[in-house]
Amino acid sequence: MNDLNLIGQNFKQIRQKIDLTARKVGRLADDIEIVVVTKTVDIEAMKIVIKAGAKHLGENKVQDAVKKQARLDEEVNWHFIGHLQTNKVKHVIGKFQLIHSVDSIRLAQKIEQEAEKRGIIQKILLEVNVSGETSKYGFVPADLMPACEQISSLKHVRLEGLMTMAPFTDDRAVIRSCFQSLASLRTTINGQSIAGIQMPTLSMGMTNDYLIAVEQGATLVRIGSAIFHG
Ligand SMILES: *Cc1c(COP(=O)(O)O)cnc(C)c1O
Repeated sequence: MNDLNLIGQNFKQIRQKIDLTARKVGRLADDIEIVVVTKTVDIEAMKIVIKAGAKHLGENKVQDAVKKQARLDEEVNWHFIGHLQTNKVKHVIGKFQLIHSVDSIRLAQKIEQEAEKRGIIQKILLEVNVSGETSKYGFVPADLMPACEQISSLKHVRLEGLMTMAPFTDDRAVIRSCFQSLASLRTTINGQSIAGIQMPTLSMGMTNDYLIAVEQGATLVRIGSAIFHG
């Protein structure tokens, strides 16, 4: 890990770059939140980034995340961004404001069950495998609309949007087109007026591609390395 002093500075610089890019494409900077991905760092580093203004933290492993939550007193929004197994759902419900990585109907149904038990409504995003790589989790675009229809009937789950990860490539055009596809899937689904579904959120963009994501309409960018190891 880098000098701890750099963390706050990195966070603020990234915030500025996002704001500039947003303005350049005619968006409001306020419409984009940074989810600081803290999966590789300890509590000390997390406290520093919170002090620098971070309001959203993202973790990808249930056990680690829950331990960190118990040790942090600061008020933050927690985001679950990792692959979630159905047998871990009970540990996640109500502890994360948003689960980004719902990748099957079965998982959404399990979330419904556990949220109902606790009497809460859990906000979720559906993960989309836009590029169709077989190594990736997520709904393929063709399955997304029927999935949204099924999930719209779950009373303790609120579907707020879509999430994706761009393919591993240096080709900016390929990354851009992936983000563009996710944005247009959201537009299409919002236009269908499926009962109860209006999705404001697009979670896309990481350290290597977050500015492209902002240009293409991201409302949440998930950034780790550029803040903690940049
Ligand atoms: C680790 C991770 C990130 C952050 O990646 P960086 O390249 O370190 O910014 C974002 N999203 C998910 C799902 C991740 O697992």
